[in-house]
Amino acid sequence: MSTPTFRLYNTLTHETEPVEPIEDEHLRFYSCGPTVYMYAHIGNFRSFLTADLIRRTAEAIGWDVTNVSNITDVGHLTQDDLVDPGGEDKMQRALEREGERFANIYDLARHYTEAFLEDWNALNLREPEVRPRATEHVTDQLEAVIELVETGHAYTTEQGVYFSVESVDDYGHLSGNTEAQQLEATDRDVVEDPGKQDPRDFALWKHDPQHLMHWHSPWGWGYPGWHIECSVMGMQYLGDRFDLHTGGEDLIFPHHECEIAQNQALAGHPVINYWAHTRFLQVEGEKMSKSTGNFYTVRDLIAPGPDDDHVPDSVQEQGGVDPLALRYALMQGQYRKPFNFTLDTLHTAARHVRRYQDAAERVDEALEADAAGPDDLGDRLSPIYDRTLEAMCDDLNTPAATAAALDGVKAIEQTDRLSGAAARSARDWLDRTNALLGVIEREHETGEPPDDEPHASLTPDHLSESVDALLEDREAARADGEYARADAIRDTLEALGIEVMDRPEGPEWRRKVELE
Ligand code: AMP
Ligand code: ZN
Repeated sequence: MSTPTFRLYNTLTHETEPVEPIEDEHLRFYSCGPTVYMYAHIGNFRSFLTADLIRRTAEAIGWDVTNVSNITDVGHLTQDDLVDPGGEDKMQRALEREGERFANIYDLARHYTEAFLEDWNALNLREPEVRPRATEHVTDQLEAVIELVETGHAYTTEQGVYFSVESVDDYGHLSGNTEAQQLEATDRDVVEDPGKQDPRDFALWKHDPQHLMHWHSPWGWGYPGWHIECSVMGMQYLGDRFDLHTGGEDLIFPHHECEIAQNQALAGHPVINYWAHTRFLQVEGEKMSKSTGNFYTVRDLIAPGPDDDHVPDSVQEQGGVDPLALRYALMQGQYRKPFNFTLDTLHTAARHVRRYQDAAERVDEALEADAAGPDDLGDRLSPIYDRTLEAMCDDLNTPAATAAALDGVKAIEQTDRLSGAAARSARDWLDRTNALLGVIEREHETGEPPDDEPHASLTPDHLSESVDALLEDREAARADGEYARADAIRDTLEALGIEVMDRPEGPEWRRKVELE
């Protein structure tokens, strides 16, 4: 079979389009990650799974993939009516709620980041090439905000720094929101400031020395707005032109609309070609919500505690379902369609996953025995794999892909006696299908967070670049007689643990504490 064309629905153009990477056969994309203030729920993972399936499909057609997926570990004022109706800082509220468990907000963020990575691995999601944390990129965000002010795309008020949506063309294009709709949505975005030039303008920086996490900026202590982190981390790791951006549908507006505006202002041209958004998951026909009692974290379903009385009995009795069954269940709806997650779907998925696993066990035994006989499976399994791949290339049609894969399991089940040759064909099919769908065998140990490699953004090289850029800015500020700004940049460096020594031949710097 010739390689199928990978097609995805592009929110930007409202069309299902062939994906054409900027670099030949190399898909580079950014995925909005979690805000780490509680255990991730199964809806969050519906969105993360989309990114994983895009990666797997691209790899299956022979492409390289570079995926950047962030961790939002700075608290922001956003609405989340699942947990905190009324628009409060999610992380700050979490610390108030759980204060005794954690020493401070950083401790809370660390705990939920680790838990998130465990769930990620349990659900067999592949690790992104870069997983940057917002807190590790505050200087980069500050630099971008300074640049936006300098280029007239942003302005300061007593309360913060705002992006001027008037300063770019096309604000509202992604969401299709009219100005009135933008206004209504912005109202809910809780940034009320009489100094704003246009109520739609969004915060890039908030002055707030009391905020639990605050950094020094040219305008005093404060913290970055939510949208700037993804623009900055995306462009830092993927450059100012990359292919695709993913996230849940709630992020289309304002988050991604704002990201596009920031990117355009920073790069001077559009940065991202395709936008893929995952429709919200519902549970038992309703919006998931703690008050309705239909709210499940991943760990509620795969490893419930004995006292978790909101966990359904059918799950609690088995001590949790196989995480691959949860993954399989989430794949029973195509990412772009409304999907109603039910316990029935989950238990059916568990039976199907068990069948894959039983088939794999039988195949491995037959490989071991290596009985003589013809390969009566290869010719049947090969077109089944092609159908699976075609379905995935068709805008990630996961229900069709898993149905096709189940036909492969049936073909193995119906073969009474597996010769060594047939077993080799079956093993090859299982491996390729698993690489594409990830529902048969886990690729990493359950519960083990990935190796805690020093993160790319913390490597000395990367740090050097940021520090050098800041020092250059500081020199420029001094040359222009802007001493207050020059001092503020020095303070920012201080806050990052960088000591600056001014020498006759120019500034030198060193890290006050060496990174490991
Ligand atoms: P958050 O941790 O709130 O920043 O959300 C992380 C990701 O989960 C984002 O891409 C959200 O759009 C997505 N998300 C949140 N709720 C759901 C849901 N019910 N179904 C699908 N995706 C969701
Ligand atoms: Zn984002």
